Amino acid sequence: MNTPRVTLVGAGPGDPEMLTIKAVRALRRATLVLVDDLVADGVLCFARRSARVIRVGKRGGCASTPQAFIHKLMIAEAQRGERVVRLKGGDPFVFGRGGEECDALRAAGIEVEVINGLTAGLAAPAAVGIPVTDRRFTQGVALVTGHGSEHEPDWAALARSGLTLVIYMGVARVQGLVDALLRGGLRSDTPAAVISAAHTPQQRQALCCLATLADTVAAEQLPSPAILVVGDVVRAAPMWLTTPAAARRIAL
Ligand code: SAH
Repeated sequence: MNTPRVTLVGAGPGDPEMLTIKAVRALRRATLVLVDDLVADGVLCFARRSARVIRVGKRGGCASTPQAFIHKLMIAEAQRGERVVRLKGGDPFVFGRGGEECDALRAAGIEVEVINGLTAGLAAPAAVGIPVTDRRFTQGVALVTGHGSEHEPDWAALARSGLTLVIYMGVARVQGLVDALLRGGLRSDTPAAVISAAHTPQQRQALCCLATLADTVAAEQLPSPAILVVGDVVRAAPMWLTTPAAARRIAL
């Protein structure tokens, strides 16, 4: 029998046309596909009809499958000879637990292949025309989590960095993030953007400034999944010109 192997595949932000050709090929070969929450249904049409599809995400019907269970399932199925694809939203290695899954698989003697996907943190800003590293505005971009679990980013250092901040999982505690960045010295009129469900039919977005970011998320009812972008690059988005002044900067 061939060495058991699992392929971690990034499904991109939603639009099936944004899959890589490698991802499509892996899906076509798979006999078992383990799918995360944020993967759009359209992506699964590339799997064989005969493939088993198991949703292991928190919102997918299996109320929050524990990570250890996913590891066990992948290992057992690969050892049985199934061609397993582990399909994740965006990129498997960007806030996707791909690293942990690789470790668990390799420790069990299973070969792992990783196929990149387009991460939401780059695809969502592009969906509204924000060039995240435009050299006229910044020297680079930081992809950070706003989730606020055990590993909180150093918001003060980020505020000083001059980098474009692309924040994943941040809408639920947006006011706390804004406060931390303001305390860190970021200007209250720094341009900001929220892009919700980018590259899906439900995509919605709003541009504003740091001081109005939390109010904008609330007023426009922009739901998760959403990416927050903070930085002068937001000015380059065509929408910036039509964004009302009240949102673009706070009244003095
Ligand atoms: N591995 C994924 C990220 C998973 S973490 C990737 O590389 O994109 C989940 C977070 O990703 C969400 O809370 C949200 O911040 C972001 N996200 C995922 N898909 C998104 C989409 N279509 N539009 C906006 N944000 C998205």
